[in-house]
Amino acid sequence: MRKAYIFDTKPFLMTDAYKKAKREIYCPRKEIEEIQEKRFRRIVRYVFQKSRLYRKKFREKGIEVGRIKSLDDLPMLPLTTKQELRESYPLKACCVSKSEIVRIQMSGGTTGQPVIVPYTRHDVEQWKDMMLRAFYLAGISSMDVVQITPAFGLWNGGFGFHFACDAINAFTIPIGPGNTRNQIRFMRDFGTTVLASTASYPLRIAEVAEEMGIELSELPLKKLILGAEPWSDEMRSQIEKIFLARTYDIPGLTEMGGVGTVGFECPEREGLHMWEDNYIIEIVDPESGEELDEGEEGEIVYTSLNREAMPLIRYRSGEISRIVSRERCECGIEHITLERIKGRSDDMVIFKGVKFYPTDIERILAEHGILHYKIVVSDSKVEVFYEGDEEKANSIARDISEFVGISPRVVPLRKGEIERYDGKARRLFKVEEVMK
Ligand SMILES: [Zn+2]
Repeated sequence: MRKAYIFDTKPFLMTDAYKKAKREIYCPRKEIEEIQEKRFRRIVRYVFQKSRLYRKKFREKGIEVGRIKSLDDLPMLPLTTKQELRESYPLKACCVSKSEIVRIQMSGGTTGQPVIVPYTRHDVEQWKDMMLRAFYLAGISSMDVVQITPAFGLWNGGFGFHFACDAINAFTIPIGPGNTRNQIRFMRDFGTTVLASTASYPLRIAEVAEEMGIELSELPLKKLILGAEPWSDEMRSQIEKIFLARTYDIPGLTEMGGVGTVGFECPEREGLHMWEDNYIIEIVDPESGEELDEGEEGEIVYTSLNREAMPLIRYRSGEISRIVSRERCECGIEHITLERIKGRSDDMVIFKGVKFYPTDIERILAEHGILHYKIVVSDSKVEVFYEGDEEKANSIARDISEFVGISPRVVPLRKGEIERYDGKARRLFKVEEVMK
């Protein structure tokens, strides 16, 4: 019995919003480059005139904006750090007057000075437009029921999804995070077809659904749009198996305007296509800040070309990735392709000279069917705790040693012994050893 007749009253339309998104997604390379050049020249002059932060930075470096003529001059400009944005609290890096700001979002830890990202009307529209590109590629329409589990508040998650849902007249459930039993009840009772969440939250949902005796694969859910934290391909296949649904990786950084602004996953799963008409992408050495050779793994540096309240020049994101290709993708997109984000530079572990990220361990655990884990690192040892069969410990240890190059202590735990999270999961714990 299909009770979803109410959804049928909203016709699926190729709305004007989607027509625009489609045109921009499949923009020819030559045109992307022309837009980039034009916007780059403009934004450099704009921030110099309008932003106290950049006027100071450029003057200190002796940069004459008049001499910045093309994208080739980009490396002359200084990098921007999160610390500088913290120090710019509340609105020192802002380029517009307070009356032009329509909202703020916030990024940064729970302690210390937050990073405030102001938006003008134009910036909110840009956010929505970029989210519409993602929605278009994921095939989300007015017939969908979209349950938004990221928070509605100063953290950016919920609103980005909301703006796009609203623009296409989707049935929106702006439920926000937490109360997992309620989330599952809503998924069942309203026939949620698209779930937006952090990458680890589906694991929590799966567990609670089992307790409730609800078979997730029997729900109408078809798509999960996941982001806010790195997740491996192996974890993806576990999630897709549990939910019998397709997952999509959505990158996003508050400083660049929030979830979904910078790019979206390639439909062919070749990586992330980054919207180069709106952002310039560079990959630098996380330590020295020097630009790396094409294809090398490093930190993503963004320049926002189409934001008004607080565009950033060469912003160090802390996200680790590499350029996969600048060629036209199989999917027809001619924007740059990056590898899915592997981790954040803060999450990088160097143990006895071996560099790794939590996702390197996750990949192996997920292949062994393990979903809940944590990694504890100190100077003298790495410990990997997982919930699952004791017998797997040896083969996990062997695989980690073979593929990551470290020999951790691998410790099986009982179900429920590792903390659960309703938002981003904390997997890595760096501990200081007490000196004797
Ligand atoms: Zn593609």
